[in-house]
Amino acid sequence: MCAACYVPYQPSYALNGDCHPQSTVPLQLTLRVQVFAYRPDPVIRKGDTRVARPVHNSLSMKRFVFFLFFVAALASGTATARNAGSSPKQAKAGVRVLLVVAHPDDEYEMAGTVYRITKELSGSVDQLIITNGEAGYHYSSLADRYYGVNLTDESVGRARLPRIRREEARRAGRILGIRHQWFLNEKNDHFTIDADEVLNRTWHTERVLANIQQRLRKGHYDFVFVLLPADETHGEHKAASILTLRAIEQLPASQRPVVLGAQAGGNESETFHTLPGYSLTATNTPRPQFQFDRDTRLGYRESLSYQIVVGWVIAEHKSQGLFQTRCRQDRFENFWLFTMNRESASNEAVLLFATISARPETGQATGIANVTKLR
Ligand SMILES: [Zn+2]
Repeated sequence: MCAACYVPYQPSYALNGDCHPQSTVPLQLTLRVQVFAYRPDPVIRKGDTRVARPVHNSLSMKRFVFFLFFVAALASGTATARNAGSSPKQAKAGVRVLLVVAHPDDEYEMAGTVYRITKELSGSVDQLIITNGEAGYHYSSLADRYYGVNLTDESVGRARLPRIRREEARRAGRILGIRHQWFLNEKNDHFTIDADEVLNRTWHTERVLANIQQRLRKGHYDFVFVLLPADETHGEHKAASILTLRAIEQLPASQRPVVLGAQAGGNESETFHTLPGYSLTATNTPRPQFQFDRDTRLGYRESLSYQIVVGWVIAEHKSQGLFQTRCRQDRFENFWLFTMNRESASNEAVLLFATISARPETGQATGIANVTKLR
């Protein structure tokens, strides 16, 4: 949970976001062996939520045949992409992802996944941040000294933190290769687990919903990541996810991206149950269907891991105080598919996470399928 979860309000106004240079890693679509070696596996250990296993278990023969066709079609696209070279224009063919989050540090929950997509897999990720992040000043005492401002004083913190946290988000976004960031500057009031309070009293809900819809229409995203709207999490996290699900639901079916809820954790078997009163938050399974393991080793003598990148991101959010203690606390980035997704969403997500979760080949870029062509 981000420390911005404890803060108040400023006039809401939309800002044009920063535009960060898109990754220029050559587009080279490389499907991993585990995708092509796909086969039904009836033996599933209890609690085993590794990527693709739940889908293995649930696919009927008919869906399996469809999946083979799906992979074959992708292989065709792969060959085309390999021949295409590495121009910026071609890089746009990578997967397109939108993050919609409440607070300036919420990208932490899926930071390793985002880094893989933008820096190593030729995809693009944009980020919409709904609040101004003015709360959470109680934990800013170390940042007081760093920024030379008495941020732990409520009036000072609420006045100064929005700008500071926007800059922190921009720096973290550069590390993660985020292409565009948009800040809606809604009120980041105080910690509550009540999503209704946020939706009915704190935010300009219709304005936020319209803005999300606008981003979805313009961005033509393949996937949208939101924070898992878990019962115990901040009401603003829940509200951001609920509004995103509503926005996607209101799109024409052919334009809907696949939407997943994300939550970082120390294990792979955390459970989620539909948020009472919000049936849109229902997920396919209580346990996550997909993971990215931040401890995945890479580099010389495999001495590095993606925990290092996550640490870079955490370090940029210096004003967040308690958030700094999250370093190496969460090994897994867990993802749940919402049931509101179209039927093909599982296969599309399997393909995405099979590539993301594959061991990186040091010095060699890999790519993600342009799944939109396969719909
Ligand atoms: Zn947060």
